[in-house]
Amino acid sequence: MDTVRVRFAPSPTGNLHIGGARTALFNWFYAKSKQGKFILRIEDTDQARSKKEYFDEITFSLNWLGFHWDELYYQSRRFDIYRDYARKLLDEGRAYLSRKVPDAGLEQAVQDQPVEQGEAIVFKVLPQKVAFRDLIRGEISFDTEVIKDQVLIKSDGTPAYNFACVVDDALMGITHVIRGDDHISNTPKQILLYRALGFSLPSFAHLPLILSKEGGRLSKRKGATAISEYREMGYLPEALVNYLLLLGWSPGGDREIIGTEESIRLFDIAHVNKTAAVLDLDKLDWMNNQYLKTKDPSLLMEEVLPLLEKAGYIDTNNFDRNYVLSLIQLFQARLTTLPDFVERADFFFRDDFPLDREAREKFLSKDLSAEFSLFIERLKKLEPFDIAAVESAFRDLVQELAIQSKVLIHPVRVALTGKTVGPGLFEVIYYLGRERTIARLEWWIKGG
Ligand code: GLU
Repeated sequence: MDTVRVRFAPSPTGNLHIGGARTALFNWFYAKSKQGKFILRIEDTDQARSKKEYFDEITFSLNWLGFHWDELYYQSRRFDIYRDYARKLLDEGRAYLSRKVPDAGLEQAVQDQPVEQGEAIVFKVLPQKVAFRDLIRGEISFDTEVIKDQVLIKSDGTPAYNFACVVDDALMGITHVIRGDDHISNTPKQILLYRALGFSLPSFAHLPLILSKEGGRLSKRKGATAISEYREMGYLPEALVNYLLLLGWSPGGDREIIGTEESIRLFDIAHVNKTAAVLDLDKLDWMNNQYLKTKDPSLLMEEVLPLLEKAGYIDTNNFDRNYVLSLIQLFQARLTTLPDFVERADFFFRDDFPLDREAREKFLSKDLSAEFSLFIERLKKLEPFDIAAVESAFRDLVQELAIQSKVLIHPVRVALTGKTVGPGLFEVIYYLGRERTIARLEWWIKGG
């Protein structure tokens, strides 16, 4: 059997969004699952709209997601090839020249002449039946009566998408064309071109549409966020890959968390859903938390350090690595994204941390200076000062005062962290350290 060769063919006229990333993923997965090749083809025929910044964003994001390509092509460097094939069709009488009539703006057929600037090459569509078996959707057939003659080379000399796509897919030996189902209507047009050019057909697989949760297609407003922005928001590539995979495929049962290696083993293109997938960002948050929870904290630290530096919390040339690592471990299980850490752990890095107004009213409006003072006394005497010792000092105190622990636990937490939620209080106290804990409690005794 021929080696599987698939391609991802983005136009660099915009960033890589969820839809494109999922198409890339399914292609890459298919290649991996068949020990095939994954080809990246930049469809930059529209030179006015193609931008280097989009190319950079797309390639950066593909690499970040781990979809490394085996070969890379640019359509803008292959114009001669497209022109040669178009000329061949022209010579065989399967295409004709067409010129825009000045003023009228209408196309007029011009036969048997050399191609001149300003003339388009147009493919004659003859009535015939076009059907193909889509690997995901099964049999699809079209009536060519609805297909008009097709421009192969536009009057500005650039190739039309369907034509460049067919020439490239054939010359690049693409065995499987896997793309979004918004391209289904292009497929019969492409099949006619394969036939006319004498190329053998690849297999086609059209992935289901991705809808926004509110309904309708993804748009700028509805979830069509660039992959690079997800990265900046603090999502992990492995969580995004897992999430994208579920937009159209399932490993079976209720299973949702599945690593790349294992899913590549289980992946089968025939089992991709036919129905539209819905983009659910809450689910992505949930998934990201699942991955953050179990990720090696020292790897997370590498991602978090620049954020801490940016917030002015550390100087990356001079900081306590083990301390930051412990804090990451302390918060890891509760994080949705990485920047959450910077926000939630702020009180470990600054004394002027924001204080939640409601929390202050709820837990610190009552005078607790006597209780705070007693707690301070005990903290001062603790030796060693560790989590277990802090906890027993606290428990002994509330017992002696004959109060419920919550009477003191919430006010102390708000006083020390400015927040009502966070990691265990005794761990917070331990990592804040004796001095800072006492200083913060004393500040409240003095009136806050
Ligand atoms: N450049 C096209 C797109 O971005 C590629 C379509 C295809 O895969 O054939 O939609």
